[in-house]
Amino acid sequence: MQNKLQIYNTLSRKKELFEPIDPPHVGMYVCGPTVYGDAHLGHARAAISFDIVFRYLLYLDYKVRYVRNITDVGHLENDTDELGEDKIAKKARLDQLEPMEVVQLFANRYHKNMEQLNVLPPSIEPSASGHIIEQIEYVKEILENGYGYEKEGSVYFDVVRYNEDYNYGKLSGRKVEDLLKNTRDLAGQEDKKNSFDFALWKKADPKHIMRWASPWGEGYPGWHMECSAMGAKYLGEQFDIHGGGLDLLFPHHESEIAQVNAAKGHDAVKYWMHNNLITVGGQKMGKSLNNFITLDEFFSGNHEALDRAYSPMTIRFFMLQAHYRSTLDFSNEALQAAEKGMNKLFDTFKLLDHIKPTESSVDIRKYHDLCFNALNDDFNTPIALAHLFDLSRIINQVNDGKESLSKDDISFAKDLFETVLFKIFGLLDEKGKDDSKLVEHLMETMLTIRQQAKDNKDYATSDKIREELEKLNIQIKDTKEGSNWSFK
Ligand code: ZN
Repeated sequence: MQNKLQIYNTLSRKKELFEPIDPPHVGMYVCGPTVYGDAHLGHARAAISFDIVFRYLLYLDYKVRYVRNITDVGHLENDTDELGEDKIAKKARLDQLEPMEVVQLFANRYHKNMEQLNVLPPSIEPSASGHIIEQIEYVKEILENGYGYEKEGSVYFDVVRYNEDYNYGKLSGRKVEDLLKNTRDLAGQEDKKNSFDFALWKKADPKHIMRWASPWGEGYPGWHMECSAMGAKYLGEQFDIHGGGLDLLFPHHESEIAQVNAAKGHDAVKYWMHNNLITVGGQKMGKSLNNFITLDEFFSGNHEALDRAYSPMTIRFFMLQAHYRSTLDFSNEALQAAEKGMNKLFDTFKLLDHIKPTESSVDIRKYHDLCFNALNDDFNTPIALAHLFDLSRIINQVNDGKESLSKDDISFAKDLFETVLFKIFGLLDEKGKDDSKLVEHLMETMLTIRQQAKDNKDYATSDKIREELEKLNIQIKDTKEGSNWSFK
């Protein structure tokens, strides 16, 4: 397929033709979660937005190396002013756990949620604490080039000095002159030349558990440093896509740009992509705002703001109904509408197996280009879905005998649904999944009845159950621990 993919680049503030640095290879780095709590809808949006990017690039036959990190150290409570406790260390202190126990627990839970949402795992998932040496080396380069300074065992980035040679603020649009005008004296920041200088390395106070030896004494890396160091390690000094939530644009991504220019003398990233945020009644949903609903709560319906449970695929479809750069407001009504819409498309897909082909056919071939033009237009999933709904309406008219489709056009439609809905959008028809759960339950019941028959020496019944199941290609094995079953 001719590549016409356009990506909105936050750096240039316009859509650009996607031309990878070294085709067919594509390097993509996305900021992953800080694992100190359960994933909420905001985490799902970032993961799903970039899962679509990943899946679509794979569909276009690119060889994608997708790196999504785990932040397990260095992310402080107040991430703009770099104040407060390390988020992981605080959770560990409150729950009386090892910091690495907190990390493992919430990384496991995050992975489970991602699997439920059918988000493909990244190619590499590096963690900050596993890349301390790389981060120290990176800080050294910045110091050697004169863009950082050491103070009392911490190392800071000198924003004013950097801005003499480069443009600090080119991603976020902030200006150093304005930052200087609004500079604040914040307690705990006395070591910095300016309050907006950010930490490359922080001295660990005596209570801080997570600490490593460095040329500047025992400490831990600044939050922004991990992504610069790990991006460079796994994707090289220059790579194609860097993504993350819009809330990371400043200071996190702005600082990453400053770090790489200060260390290497050039930008690393060709296309910066940012997904927009989830809102609740117009306000950002976030852990720090305490108005978030976790994914597990959505899946169980166990939250006062939820009318009922919503399946992972409903959440996924709900996300796809908005463009990733638009805000998305959560409501029960919107989720229920998403579920209804999704089931309608699934039902149409199944209907295609049952409608009778005719000689004549209504023209549906245009829907291929309509869907892919939308996807090529900065991954416009809502427009692509709108076209699938149009196609779905026609297929239902065919089923009602009001329109007709040829055999070839029926398989064209099946193919388009399969490619867009299941392969690129990563949706799963969970009714099938429910069936397998149902089979588990039914088999448990059958085995219990058979066991009771055997206990009552009613071998006629127990043999009958075995024989009938054999006919369904189900084999029962009797072991010392009891009976189990498998498909033959
Ligand atoms: Zn990051």
